[in-house]
Amino acid sequence: MPELPEVETIKSDLEKVILKKKIIKVELLDKKLIKGIKPELLIKEIEKTTVDQIIRRGKYLIFVLSNNKSLVFHLKLTGQLIYGTPDKKSRIIFCFDNGKCLNFLDQRRFAELRLTNEWNKEKGIIDMGPEPFDKSFNLEKFRCMLGSKKTKIKPLLMDQNFLAGVGNIYAQEVLFRVGIHPERPVNKLRTQEVENLYSAIKGVLLEAIKYRGSSVDAYVDTQGKKGGMEQRLKVYGRAGQSCQNCGTLLKEMKLAGRGTTYCPKCQK
Ligand SMILES: [Zn+2]
Repeated sequence: MPELPEVETIKSDLEKVILKKKIIKVELLDKKLIKGIKPELLIKEIEKTTVDQIIRRGKYLIFVLSNNKSLVFHLKLTGQLIYGTPDKKSRIIFCFDNGKCLNFLDQRRFAELRLTNEWNKEKGIIDMGPEPFDKSFNLEKFRCMLGSKKTKIKPLLMDQNFLAGVGNIYAQEVLFRVGIHPERPVNKLRTQEVENLYSAIKGVLLEAIKYRGSSVDAYVDTQGKKGGMEQRLKVYGRAGQSCQNCGTLLKEMKLAGRGTTYCPKCQK
């Protein structure tokens, strides 16, 4: 599933091409992706509006429109947003006044599109934890957020109500880089480990943004190109291969229902 770096890449690409552009027509080829509003009404509301602002919050992408309503996208497992000419496989096509289109594709059809008056009050967003790159998310705040919780660290990092944008790929990478076992209870983290974890969260996400995300599933950028981060991942998807630090074979386990790869020697 696209996480913060992938959605951020899409956001910054789209800012260059659709900001202040008018949506002249919407072609709806699959109604299933539209939630919470009659699909025909959504189209009526957004045609002839312009995209005034593009925001990423966690794994959500938000287009603030000139009628003060917002389109809220969640790509879920296989959603893609590809800019250019109309694509036959699109579920929804947004056509702009410059003759270009934004194709919303989704092979598995779990992606969601909503129209809302206040995007920050939407379910899934209203209770979301802080953004990792928000100024308010400093080390002191991170320590407070962790508190003396007894939960395991990896599922907590992936909890969107704890921290926005980190999912299964980057939670594994962060924990490997700081040598912390995914099952370690939060209240057993040492002071220095919390500091390392805080830095690694930002460091790994920044690196993934720099390399335009990880194309481990269906993720591609708005030009349909794969990201460059997956070759840099040290544990995700590498179970059975040797650890790049120590040579031990990486192990995989299920943790809170999610496949989790780790090094049994480096991560304690
Ligand atoms: Zn190792």
